[in-house]
Amino acid sequence: MLQKSSLNRQICESDRDTLRKYFEISGILFIVLNRLGEVVSFNQELVDLLKMDASDIRGKNWFDNFVPERERSFVKDIFSKLLKGEIVPQQTVNVENAIINSSGEERIILWNNAIIDDRDNKNIYGTISSGMDITDKVRLREEQSLIIDILRLLNRSDSKIDIIKEILRLIKSHGGFEAVGIRLKEEVDYPYYDTLGFSQEFVMKEDKLCVDRDFNYEHDKCNECLCGLVISGQSKNLESSLFTKRGTFWTNNINDISSTDKEKINKLVYFRNTCFDEGYKSIALIPITIAGDIIGLLQLNDHRPYMFRNGIIKFYENVVESIGIALYRINIEEKIIQAKNKVEKTNGELEEFAYKASHDLREPLRTITSYVEMLQDSMNCSTDQQKYYFNKILDATSLLDQFIDDLLSYARIGSLTKIEDVDLAEICDMVVKNHDSLLKEKNGSVIYLNLPIIKNTKVLMLQLFQNLISNSLKYSDDGRKAVVQISAEDEHDFWHIKIEDNGIGISEKDYGMIFQMFKRITPNRYKGTGMGLAICKKIVESFGGKIWFTSELGKGTTFHLTLLKNGGQE
Ligand code: ADP
Repeated sequence: MLQKSSLNRQICESDRDTLRKYFEISGILFIVLNRLGEVVSFNQELVDLLKMDASDIRGKNWFDNFVPERERSFVKDIFSKLLKGEIVPQQTVNVENAIINSSGEERIILWNNAIIDDRDNKNIYGTISSGMDITDKVRLREEQSLIIDILRLLNRSDSKIDIIKEILRLIKSHGGFEAVGIRLKEEVDYPYYDTLGFSQEFVMKEDKLCVDRDFNYEHDKCNECLCGLVISGQSKNLESSLFTKRGTFWTNNINDISSTDKEKINKLVYFRNTCFDEGYKSIALIPITIAGDIIGLLQLNDHRPYMFRNGIIKFYENVVESIGIALYRINIEEKIIQAKNKVEKTNGELEEFAYKASHDLREPLRTITSYVEMLQDSMNCSTDQQKYYFNKILDATSLLDQFIDDLLSYARIGSLTKIEDVDLAEICDMVVKNHDSLLKEKNGSVIYLNLPIIKNTKVLMLQLFQNLISNSLKYSDDGRKAVVQISAEDEHDFWHIKIEDNGIGISEKDYGMIFQMFKRITPNRYKGTGMGLAICKKIVESFGGKIWFTSELGKGTTFHLTLLKNGGQE
């Protein structure tokens, strides 16, 4: 019997020894706390992570000394619930919390907890926990979701300020930084475009890069803080471990900056030190670039040291590339809107001018016409020469009237923006009706089948088809019956419309003049103002389409035009 109990004791002792060895080689953190939360036992893994002597850990209150303040109450709450038996230990398997080491660096640990009690579960003496350092995994998870969210932003059509606010919010929440900001190279001294988490005083102090230019006159140093060094691109050429190849400045602790590095920086900028004076330890200033040009910088600040590592900085250097693309897109959109507004303003002014001009010109023109007619009646013209002169004057006044009408039509195109369903067959019906007498005179016909209904503006389509069909009839060949054929082909987002005639055709030497304002090729033989095709071009292009022609002299001409099916609404 005696022999057996000593054997059992030996096994027990060897069990304990095996267990202790397992604790040391498992690669997992182990820690035993008593009911007061004081550290009773732990393994070397924990000593290494905390970067402390074992004697500085043993007996210390775990929560007050090794858990960051912001997470303390949450972790203490779980501990006290465990001691009260309110949580079945298995439920606590996934408790994730940060611990802080002697350098002030935070690591995220996934803990498994169990209570230590007596055999019949009556007295709970403390807890035993095993933990895994999952900091890198958590960061990777955060980085992946941040990049997905930022990429989503690339497709949003919000304003620049809204996009930048969202970028800052995402970086702050995913990266866990206390304060973030974006400067853009837009105004003098590149102030912050927006910040999140910095105090108002800090932003006011740091907003301008050069607070006191005169102060630096001796050294001709304009940018007074490190932001200036990064945003101006000077940091790219500085050979110092504080800067990456892309010119990013980063530090985990002011104390890490050597005096040699400080000297190098001081040669270029006046080291303002506001960030450090405010107690920020981790600081990163990452240049935002578009195709290699720096357009701004992203700033990440935290009072906690060791927020960064090479991998994190590289990750944010990639993130700012997406930010650069987003800002580039917004800039282009803003420019397009500005140009559009300018065009709209000019169009408005032109329309106003054309309206006034036509109104003011029409009055004297009407007076001339009526007096010429009265003069003609009162003179009772009998000679052919007199009749010829009067007809010439009246023809000229009617042409001038037509000029005024055409100018007004041209000017009005941009302001007619009503998009509606337009049945092109109906439009052609109307044009044919309007040209009844000309068709009879030319013994002509207009043929159209299967024309589509498109989104457009009815009055403009009427004007477009009116001008093109009337030209086809006007420039018909006297020797044959005029035939105009209109067809439409489906070309993805567009309709390709063809207006084909068998008229006189256009000589190659005149191709360049056809769409120009007031340019006429055979002014004496055919009446016109030379505005018809210029109006057509403006109408088609205002809907995002194109107009061109193919022609064979003596055989006929085909005018081609493309019209967006949706009228260019999107
Ligand atoms: P207008 O007909 O008042 O001269 P347009 O701008 O409509 O002005 O046309 C410009 C010129 O293009 C015309 O003077 C004419 O020489 C030529 N043109 C237009 N349409 C045709 C056509 N279908 N066939 C031959 N020539 C044409």
